[in-house]
Amino acid sequence: MEKIIRNVIRCKNCGDIIESKYTHDFVTCKCGRCSVDGGKDYLRRCFKNSTDDYEELSEFVEDNNKKSED
Ligand SMILES: [Zn+2]
Repeated sequence: MEKIIRNVIRCKNCGDIIESKYTHDFVTCKCGRCSVDGGKDYLRRCFKNSTDDYEELSEFVEDNNKKSED
């Protein structure tokens, strides 16, 4: 299972780097083309046209501390 370390993207239109730091921290870039949300709980992206609007910069780590089901 992957754990979110940083929830961050860069807008390809205005070059703004935006990061959602906690759950329900909804951040929009300065041109308004894309947004991030969810902090370290989930990755939510909003964009005007497509996923080509932004560059994904999020960081993950493999979470081995979680108890497995088997
Ligand atoms: Zn932008």
